[in-house]
Amino acid sequence: MVPGYTKTNAFESLYFPYTHSLLMGVVWGVVVGGIYWLFKRDNRGALVIALCVLSHWLFDLIVHTADLLLTPFSDYKVGLGLWNHVAITLIIEFAIFFSGTSIYATFTKAKNKVGNWML
Ligand SMILES: [Zn+2]
Repeated sequence: MVPGYTKTNAFESLYFPYTHSLLMGVVWGVVVGGIYWLFKRDNRGALVIALCVLSHWLFDLIVHTADLLLTPFSDYKVGLGLWNHVAITLIIEFAIFFSGTSIYATFTKAKNKVGNWML
């Protein structure tokens, strides 16, 4: 934690190659999509899940400062630094949140009222 590291948060990410590198994003996507496929034998669903996992890195690329690795084995780091722009960060973060919520609500169906409130 470094107060003032970015204008919206204090997270200075120093070393997270296995959770936040592009290569490992692909690997985690294949692993999680593969686990889903093993249980459901659903190619389309597995692909969607894999892409959702990978999307974490792509969305992080937009917001992080240049601290995201391409592979755990390289030193080259990327990040577009949106977190240094407060107003744009809030607009985009809320847009992503409400878009995701809307997509989830559109394509799923709660089995009871608790499910609605959990969303
Ligand atoms: Zn992240």
